[in-house]
Amino acid sequence: MLIDSHAHLVSLENLPEVLKRARENNIGKIVSISSDIPSTEATISLTENHDFIFATTGVHPHSADKTDDEVLKGLDHYAAHEKVVAIGETGLDYFYMNSGKEVQTNSFVEHIRLSRKHNLPIIIHVREADEDMLEILKKERAADTPGVIHCFTGDYETAVKYLDLGYYISFSGIVTFKRSEELREAAKKVPADKILIETDSPYLAPVPHRGKPNEPSYVRYVADTVAEVRGISFDEICELTRANAERLFRI
Ligand SMILES: [Zn+2]
Repeated sequence: MLIDSHAHLVSLENLPEVLKRARENNIGKIVSISSDIPSTEATISLTENHDFIFATTGVHPHSADKTDDEVLKGLDHYAAHEKVVAIGETGLDYFYMNSGKEVQTNSFVEHIRLSRKHNLPIIIHVREADEDMLEILKKERAADTPGVIHCFTGDYETAVKYLDLGYYISFSGIVTFKRSEELREAAKKVPADKILIETDSPYLAPVPHRGKPNEPSYVRYVADTVAEVRGISFDEICELTRANAERLFRI
């Protein structure tokens, strides 16, 4: 059984067919990620009709400027829902920089506090912001509650800095791209009990579907590549990443 640890199901088209293909391809569980309050509500209602789908609640760093008191109250409310298994995605994105650094930091710190309050793992998005991210995580003692660096794109040296704090490292379809040698090197070396795989659907479809809409069933291509670089079988990587996702999200 495979687990897609990060998909934005409510952003996908033709969802019933997508979910059917996921089941046919042995995707046993999907963690469906929210980016704001409306997507949290839509994701939770999706989980109510599908046992194998789990939800998160959070505000994406792209819209960090929307994390006001009312939104925080909403996140706090939904975090208590029984199918909500994590806080996020949240984090820092200095590539798009839709909001300033301070606004993103404040939103992220509020998410860390929610994660601690609800004893839920945190799903972290970080792009071109590792230095500030590591500083905040240490300062806020964020690693008191576990979490994952989702869609990791750095080298192994960077991965180690997050691993040292106790975080899981999740690899997306980017690991299948031709030029991602450094990333494959990281995927080879991350400890077996800290590795996760994801699609980040509908974005970042892996080879051979690169450039097309992504969907959870394609997590098998990520699994394939990661198994190959680690020199283990497809079944072994499925088992490993399934156990890790089940432990982290308690699903
Ligand atoms: Zn995402």
